[in-house]
Formats: sequence, C-alpha cells, structure tokens
Amino acid sequence: MSYKNFPMVSRVVFGRGSFNQLEEILSPKRLNTKAPFIYFVDDVFKGNAWLTSRIPLSYDDKLIYVSAAEEPKTSQIDDLVEDIILNYKELPSGIIGIGGGTVLDIAKAVSIMLTNDGESKNYQGWDIVKNPAIFHVGIPTISGTGAEVSRTTILTGPERKLGINSDYTPFDQVILDPELTKDVPRDQWFYTGMDCFVHCVESLNGTFLNAFSKTYGEKAFTLCKEIFLEDNLNTEEAQDKLMMASWHGGMSIAYSQVGVAHALSYGLGYLLGVKHGIGNCIVFDHLDEYYPEGVALFKKMKEKHDISLPQDICKDLSDKEFDIMINVALSLEPLWENAIGKQWKKTITKEKLKALYQKM
Ligand code: NAD
Ligand code: ZN
Repeated sequence: MSYKNFPMVSRVVFGRGSFNQLEEILSPKRLNTKAPFIYFVDDVFKGNAWLTSRIPLSYDDKLIYVSAAEEPKTSQIDDLVEDIILNYKELPSGIIGIGGGTVLDIAKAVSIMLTNDGESKNYQGWDIVKNPAIFHVGIPTISGTGAEVSRTTILTGPERKLGINSDYTPFDQVILDPELTKDVPRDQWFYTGMDCFVHCVESLNGTFLNAFSKTYGEKAFTLCKEIFLEDNLNTEEAQDKLMMASWHGGMSIAYSQVGVAHALSYGLGYLLGVKHGIGNCIVFDHLDEYYPEGVALFKKMKEKHDISLPQDICKDLSDKEFDIMINVALSLEPLWENAIGKQWKKTITKEKLKALYQKM
C-alpha cells in the first residue's frame, strides 16, 4: 500500500479586509519589470471601485475581466495563454484569480499552461502535467466550491468535462477575505454553498473515507448545518464560516473523492451547460437512494431559504443526448468507486442513470 503525497496551498491569509494586503504579498514575487502580474477578475466587478481600486497595477501588469456566465473551456484557456505569450516578452511573475470557482479555475489552468506545451485538453485527467506552473494566487469572492484549496481545475473540453488534477494545480497563495463575498446574490449563495455541503456528504459517505478526509468533512458539514439550517449567526459570521466550510470541504475531498451527485452533474454540465452549483442541487434533490440523510437535510435547507430548482430539464432530450450525459457520468470512474465501491459497475448501469436523469 502506497499513500499519496499531496501538495497543499503554500500560504494563506484569512481575515476581513485582508485583500488590502495584496500589494505587500505580491511585490516580493515580482521577477523583474518585464514579467507582469496578470489578474483575471470576474466581470461582475467591472466598475466596482471598492474592489478594483485595491488591485495594484504597475509596469506591464494587466487586469483581464472574464465572464463567469459559462464554465471554463479548454479552448478559452488556450486562447488566454496564447494572448499572454504573444503580448509579453517574458513569462508572467504571477497569475491572480479573483472570483468564484470559474475564475479561480481559469487562473489555475492558465498558470499551468504557460509552462506546459500543447493544448490544455491534453492535460485533463490525473497527473499528466510535467512542469511546475507559474506562481498563482487565488482570491475567492464566493464560497463553496473548494477550488481555492483543491488540486484540480475543472475544464470542459471537446470530449469531456474533467479536471487537470496535478501536483502543480494548487495555488501558491490564497487570500481568504470573507468580506469579498458580501454582494453574492442569494440564490447563487445557496447553489455554491450547497456545492460544499454535497462535497461533505459525498466524502463522508464514500468508500475512500479515512480519518484525514473525515475530520475535514465533518467540520465542513457542521458549519454548513449552522449556516443553512440554524439562525444563530449574523451576516458576517455566516460569511466567515462559509469561507472556512468551503476550505474544509475542499480538503476533505483531497484524500477522497466526490460521488454520485458530481458524476451526474458533470453530465448535465457537459451537455446542457448547467453550472456546477445549481447542477449539483438539481441532481442531489433526487439522490435519496444513495444519500438519504444528506438529501433530507438538503430539502430542509432548500425550503428554509425558499429556493425553487428548475424542473424537467431533461424532458425533451433525445436518446442520443441521454447517452452523451450518461457516458460523461460513467467515465468518472473514481467518483463511482468512491460512492459505491469497487463493484460499482454491477449496479450503476446506463438504464439506472437514464432513469435518474429522467427525474430531473
Ligand atoms: P462562479 O464562479 O461560476 O460564479 C457564480 C456567479 O456568482 C457568477 O455570476 C459570478 O459572477 C457571481 N459572483 C461571484 N462572486 C460574486 C460576488 N462577490 N458578488 C456578486 N456576484 C458574484 O461560481 P462557483 O459556484 O464559485 O464556481 C463554479 C465553478 O467552479 C464551476 O466551473 C466548477 O466546475 C468549478 N469548481 C471547481 C472546483 C475545483 O476544485 N477546482 C470545485 C468545484 C467547482
Ligand atoms: Zn463540487
């Protein structure tokens, strides 16, 4: 038995207002005046001086607004990397992502692809990346995905939706400033928050569970219950705790895996472009067979926050389209093995998955 030796985020700052320290954190990392810092910022912050005035730009530094309307694509990453290579004589000093999981994943993927040849689709999978990435910094502005702490960057490619999972993917520096999440719309707060809750349920009920995953998962699970089911927290406490729940949820799946909800949600995302957070909610609502207690709690949270999820999104799909989703879901073998066990192929059939998708 050989245990995996995981890299982690090397440095992390936590605190309300810690975003103000960005300049002092970055300046020692500048390689020279021709090697810029490139900031990818969620375009929801365009014109938002409260946030953008604190982004220190000097020399050839550049701020690039990116939309989170769609999840990152391999072609988008390849284009962003090409632009940087064409526009600068030297590789950047650092890549900084400011936003939700979408922007954080873009920052991670670009930092990897700047130092690795070819197209990003060739690196989707596990441990294919050969060279260390450019110094990269993650600054989440919405909490739940765990992308700030994880060893993956999830991309939709021509053939599949799959992460670049590698030792070079985790951020070198993360700034956790819960204040940055203050304007997240309510529905989105719930969807992305539930990503964290689902990570915990899938990790804690998985066959890969060990004490490492369990301790992180239990902490995040407890925090989610406090945030989404109880009424004892003020707004700031809830923001602080959800940011830490996201972190712990991400740590919990480092040593285990996600499960049924994520496998099916990836299928929805690939075919229909349904985004990760809401997709997980749509799927998880129908998974009482696999996660009875987690789904019961989820339904309570949904009710408490008056969330109504889209229904019948698979109603008009053709058999061919169902097959596409089912194949994406089935290809995620480690997720099924974690959820069901080594013998998962006995119960997880195409017919079974079709029946589940038909309920959604
Ligand atoms: P997101 O980044 O897609 O953002 C969701 C919405 O919230 C967007 O409209 C965005 O503009 C808005 N938003 C973000 N911060 C805001 C703020 N402070 N104020 C107002 N609006 C704000 O959402 P997400 O759920 O964080 O990320 C989903 C993505 O994360 C997916 O692409 C998914 O694949 C990826 N993901 C990655 C990992 C990982 O480990 N790498 C894990 C889970 C999910
Ligand atoms: Zn997730």
